[in-house]
Amino acid sequence: MVGLMMAVAVFAQDPVPSFDSIPKEELFPKGGKITVADDGSLLLNGKPRYFPATQWYGQIEFSGQPSTNNEEAVKWFYEGIPNYEKMQRLGLDCGGFYGAMAWMKRIYRPWFRDERRDDAKLSAMIAELGMPMYVDMTASEWSHGSLWHWDCPLDPKRTVDPPKCRKPGKDSPFCNHPECGAKLDTPGRLSSKAWTQGHAHWMPWSIVYPQGRDIWLNMWENVAKDAIAICPADNKPWCYELLNEPSCFDTSDYAKQLFAERMKAKYGTIENLNSAWANSASGKLKFKGFDELPGAYENPDKPIAYLVEYAKFMEGQFASLLAEGTARIKKLDPDAKTTFQPCTIRTSGIDLFRCYRNLDVVCSQTGGRGVMPAALLRGLADGKPIVDNEMYIGNTTNSIRGSYLAQYIRGFNVSYSFKWESGKSGYYFMNRDNVQLDALLGSRIAKRDVMDVNEFFTPRRRGVPHEVAILFSSPTERVAEYGLDGYKCFDQAQSVAEFEHLEHDVIFEDQITNTTARLDNYKVLVCAGTRASYPGTCTQIRKWVENGGSLVLVNTRLDGNEYGGKNPESFTPDMKSGEKKALGKGVVRCRDLANDEYADYLLAACAEAGIVPTCTLVSEESGKKAGGVEVHVARRDGMTAWAINSCAGGGQLVRFTPGVDVGAGRHFVHVWNQVDVVDGKPVMVSYRQELLPNKKGEYVMYLVPGDVQFYVAGTKEQLLKRYPAGRYVKRLKSLAAADSLKAGKALLDAEIARRVVEKPAFAVDPNKCRPIDLRKFVNRRFIDKVAKDGRDGWVDQGAKFSLEDTPWGVTSCNGVPMDFIRYDQNGYRDCLVMKSTKLVDAPADELPFPLEVKGIPVDAKAKNIYFLHGIGWGTLGRVETAFTYVVNYEDGTKVEAPCRNFREVWDWYFVSLTEDMTANRCFKGWTNGQNRGLYIWQWQNPHPEKRVKSLDIVSANTQQIPLIVAATVEEP
Ligand SMILES: [Zn+2]
Repeated sequence: MVGLMMAVAVFAQDPVPSFDSIPKEELFPKGGKITVADDGSLLLNGKPRYFPATQWYGQIEFSGQPSTNNEEAVKWFYEGIPNYEKMQRLGLDCGGFYGAMAWMKRIYRPWFRDERRDDAKLSAMIAELGMPMYVDMTASEWSHGSLWHWDCPLDPKRTVDPPKCRKPGKDSPFCNHPECGAKLDTPGRLSSKAWTQGHAHWMPWSIVYPQGRDIWLNMWENVAKDAIAICPADNKPWCYELLNEPSCFDTSDYAKQLFAERMKAKYGTIENLNSAWANSASGKLKFKGFDELPGAYENPDKPIAYLVEYAKFMEGQFASLLAEGTARIKKLDPDAKTTFQPCTIRTSGIDLFRCYRNLDVVCSQTGGRGVMPAALLRGLADGKPIVDNEMYIGNTTNSIRGSYLAQYIRGFNVSYSFKWESGKSGYYFMNRDNVQLDALLGSRIAKRDVMDVNEFFTPRRRGVPHEVAILFSSPTERVAEYGLDGYKCFDQAQSVAEFEHLEHDVIFEDQITNTTARLDNYKVLVCAGTRASYPGTCTQIRKWVENGGSLVLVNTRLDGNEYGGKNPESFTPDMKSGEKKALGKGVVRCRDLANDEYADYLLAACAEAGIVPTCTLVSEESGKKAGGVEVHVARRDGMTAWAINSCAGGGQLVRFTPGVDVGAGRHFVHVWNQVDVVDGKPVMVSYRQELLPNKKGEYVMYLVPGDVQFYVAGTKEQLLKRYPAGRYVKRLKSLAAADSLKAGKALLDAEIARRVVEKPAFAVDPNKCRPIDLRKFVNRRFIDKVAKDGRDGWVDQGAKFSLEDTPWGVTSCNGVPMDFIRYDQNGYRDCLVMKSTKLVDAPADELPFPLEVKGIPVDAKAKNIYFLHGIGWGTLGRVETAFTYVVNYEDGTKVEAPCRNFREVWDWYFVSLTEDMTANRCFKGWTNGQNRGLYIWQWQNPHPEKRVKSLDIVSANTQQIPLIVAATVEEP
């Protein structure tokens, strides 16, 4: 976003097809009603529908002022507020607006000024649109979260009034002037306990203290009331997002006290608690009474059971608050649905399963990307719709089309792009420095593509059996917070199932603790890295196996209880890696695997249970399986459709074998849409082209990351009926496999040529690169606040010496993809700053500057490893080691790679290179507009045949401050 200013296009002619050219069947029927089908997908007036949508909020009614710098041809979009025709011309069927903030003044601070908002105008806009509305109420510091301590809000349940304002001319008798006696914790005002204490992201008020919970409930109820008031009576908002990116783990005294009470209610006597908690993975502390519990929070000797129970207590507070909020809104509108948007798919203190059980709609994590999060969301949804309220779409036609379609094929029902607004942000559509009007057509093309395959993919049930279940274990996720790793094995198992084309579902332990009903839907259950389990889980899994199930244990023996202690229900604690044994009518197999060994093992286990991949994809280049391609299949009315989406790093030429669905008398047709200029005007044109197989029955395709492709197979009659001729339909002549190969090769060559033209220092194949995940190891931010306080970020020399404008996500650094961590999805940490004589020690409540970091998992064979790093206070005049990477191989051997100033690394403050550096393969990695930034260094692996187990980093503890940002493995 930042630093990527695009040239502003000049449109002599409107690039967007006219409203009149949109076919009737494509238009959103004004006033159409959303309902939910049994499988959780959405229906519009009773028919399955996916909604490409957008968000506008924060004063959209004031945007679109007449301007002098927009061409006549595009003024229709940039001037005026959103309306039905604009939305439809861009293919958008749904919108969302921001809840009014009037509730704060109404209930808590009558002396405050009114929010800038024109409800009459907004109301007219919503009525004209006639579309379902989504209401967002983010409690960020600048919006709904702006009810501050210093406002000294009134207590709405007060029995006595606080002192009145002594200054003349106030509308309200009360005020927040300290000189008039306004103070929290005094009669008539709120308690300071109502605010969150401890780390919180957009959760300003307590979820444990009653007055804090009341603020949330009052907010939801009043925002809903105000939203309903501005919507037409027959088009009330369809869904309310109660929270956006919440994070709250409350460790206040009040919370700890309440926790003790809850434990007393759960265990009755302290002896019961001690005996239950004794079976923990760590900690020996025993308690004499429940009153000792609050004080024990800081005691390092407390059992892990304490922490697990505390986390569950927080999760319960959070989930029950959302349920109470939902009840308040349903009192106002029984048809209203509620949801909330998690910041990431894993959030400490929030159990997504528990939360969504009480809500009607599942919302993706911010940005909504990734195959693993999508699989988890489908598991959570379980008969409920999935929305993404904050989809980032990039700024090209393809990136916008691909953003919608990736979510669509993964089972989302509404995707709200972020967002239709003017202003400077890199996310705003009306910002012409950011995105051009013709690119916004990506959403309409996506909508037309969806229409081509609507009956196949829009219903969540797609006519294809799912016989593999992958267990998501919340107990395992909890103990992982306290050092018992294993939880990432789930990610690996899911990713392998996805990219090996094994149809699967994610199931949750909560669904199987007292029944095998859920498990009975599946032939194979994969438990990967399950370190802890709820009571009941093992017993039910065992019953299911004895009844014929096939259990696959990867890096687990299912031998841990909820606290990581010994699980008395375990039936596989002593299995050896590689062992397979019969149990009743079923079978259990167990193996300890590195990441690159999952695929063969899972495929073999599934094959034995009679489950085969739905298709195969072979790389034309390597002759091996093509990696990183997701394929979704759907069968309906004797026809079959495929959605193919490459998640690889670069273009791939592949041979696709679709399996049983294509044979004699059936044809395989590629369907797509694009905007062409016909008779001098832009129009939407639908393309259909049959692909012919080669002699082996394979279809040749060129797959570009993010370019979702749809294919449909059926008889000639079926296909002609489904895809009839029309004025703007182009039927291209059939493409023979040899021609497809030729065309694909040309595209691949062109892509490689483009990479070479950019002349990066490293010409790596992006399909062979895998970022190393540093999220758990980073300890600081790129941005510092106060110099020499040992906190916040970078070289701890204050805000001026921060590394600004760093990107989020995977970014090409001189040819190598590097994963920049998004700080607010990682506990406010995005880089690793290590010990140096120039740094003051971190205070006790902050993470230290470590002398060494050990055991960063790599778990891959490597030709090279690339490091993105820098140093602060680089030494002049002599060369010395600043820090050392230690590469640990699986066989127990290691190699040290020292990083020296002017050789493998140099100072971040002014990025420059010497001949010694380039000779050592150290180049510019990433720089901001001030030439501050990072170096990329290539470490060549002397033993590419050995698997790298992990990395350590050791600071030399000189004046040079080690700054480590990212690392990427290039596979051999
Ligand atoms: Zn006053």
